[in-house]
Amino acid sequence: MLDAVVVGAGPNGLTAAVELARRGLRVEVFEAKDTVGGGARTEELTLPGFRHDPCSAVHPLGIGSPAFRDMPLGRYGLEWLHPELPMAHPFDDGTAAVLSRSVSETAASFGPRDAGTYRRLIAPFLGKWDVLARDFMSLPLTALPRDPLGLARFGAVGLPPYTWLMRRFRDDRARALMAGLVAHVIAPLGGVATGGVGMLFALAAHENGWPLPRGGSQSISDALTAYLRDLGGEVHTGFEVKRLDDLPPARTYLFDTSPTALARIAGLGRAYDGYKYGAAVFKIDYALDGPVPWTAKEPQRAGTVQIGPSSHEIATALAQASGRTAPDTPFLITAQPSLVDPSRAPEGKHVFWAYGHVPNGWEGDFTDAIERQIERFAPGFRDRVLARATAGPPELVARNANYVGGDIACGAARGLQLLLRPKVSLFPYATRHPSVFLCSSAAWPGPGVHGMSGHNAAKAAWRALRRADRG
Ligand SMILES: Cc1cc2nc3c(=O)[nH]c(=O)nc-3n(C[C@H](O)[C@H](O)[C@H](O)COP(=O)(O)OP(=O)(O)OC[C@H]3O[C@@H](n4cnc5c(N)ncnc54)[C@H](O)[C@@H]3O)c2cc1C
Repeated sequence: MLDAVVVGAGPNGLTAAVELARRGLRVEVFEAKDTVGGGARTEELTLPGFRHDPCSAVHPLGIGSPAFRDMPLGRYGLEWLHPELPMAHPFDDGTAAVLSRSVSETAASFGPRDAGTYRRLIAPFLGKWDVLARDFMSLPLTALPRDPLGLARFGAVGLPPYTWLMRRFRDDRARALMAGLVAHVIAPLGGVATGGVGMLFALAAHENGWPLPRGGSQSISDALTAYLRDLGGEVHTGFEVKRLDDLPPARTYLFDTSPTALARIAGLGRAYDGYKYGAAVFKIDYALDGPVPWTAKEPQRAGTVQIGPSSHEIATALAQASGRTAPDTPFLITAQPSLVDPSRAPEGKHVFWAYGHVPNGWEGDFTDAIERQIERFAPGFRDRVLARATAGPPELVARNANYVGGDIACGAARGLQLLLRPKVSLFPYATRHPSVFLCSSAAWPGPGVHGMSGHNAAKAAWRALRRADRG
């Protein structure tokens, strides 16, 4: 009998498998697709030589992940590449605000009326990423906080809705950039703790940057897989698990799946009926003849470019997508991998990554709306397009069963579900089946390539095994 079986080889499933294998357990992973990676993969989606990330591309949470930092992933080929600027946020007047490694440069880009406010807001947390991330991402209750005061201070700033954060700024340059950061969770901007999301991404830029892995996000998954194999773990691909009986007998099972799929496969009945899925995205991967012709200078050297020139426009787009309407004017998150990694495209050419938000299950074509927004800040963009690969909700679901209705966060990150995932419980990874655990981003700390849901779930499963051994 195996010690542990993991269903799904996304970053959380692979991390869970590694955590158990490094404790000496016999672990096997079963992945539905033909390759490992889930939301961290790289493929030639358009033309030969253009290496695209169909899902995640930029990794502020990956480089800052306590789980990844404890693993020798560099030895297995993972190398972080830092763009000159983590992020730029252009405006209609041809200027841009930036999120730089430097707090001063960031504050200065907000203009004189908000520079001091930003400096004062971020200052108490500088130099504290490691402790804060470990405390924050290990919650709830898998470990006691190492810096309870720091965590409480972050909570005081982060727990109120983002409108509280917005009121501290006087101009829309800072507000739009912060609103864009909050929008990374793909939910209406006004809910509880949304300010904390903005602060987390800003702090991440100053502390560790927003890097991209050399060769694309697949390098993260390949490094985790190679490390797992060295630890004696096995990975089976092309194996979609439909019932628990499909799997070899094991003492414990961890599911890197949606709660809905977990309930169906493990026979948990209506255990997750209350779990909600949120807005979806429409993703486009471009092969370009040259770099994006941004009007403003700053986006020309940024790894990520947010497109949404006012906090109002961004809030409206997120509210529409979270309801039933595709936004008239979408907010876009875009990334420029080949600016830092020439291996991603033939010489002189580029890959470009962009998505906008649409309602869950939406079946239309959002290409024109997205490209009109890009053209607004980069006139002539369309002339550089050699090829594009588009994916709306139906295609995203086909790529990965965890994107229910095209929700790439595997469950709405809004309301209590932002903090208490997948349900209100001190033991979010455990299920009513004593040998079955949830380890995907549907469980705390939620979406992003950081492996912490897998890390925490593996600890919970390992503790349960030790309890069983002790009788
Ligand atoms: C377009 C897009 C852009 C994104 N951008 C970023 C970004 O820039 N930075 C970032 O940090 N995050 C980003 N994300 C989010 C990130 O990819 C996810 O939060 C992360 O991958 C979640 O990891 P996971 O292991 O929980 O699940 P996934 O990565 O979704 O992996 C789940 C795996 O389980 C497999 N599986 C599911 N059901 C079964 C089954 N029944 N049997 C066998 N296998 C199964 C799936 O095939 C998949 O491989 C993005 C996601 C998308 C789609």
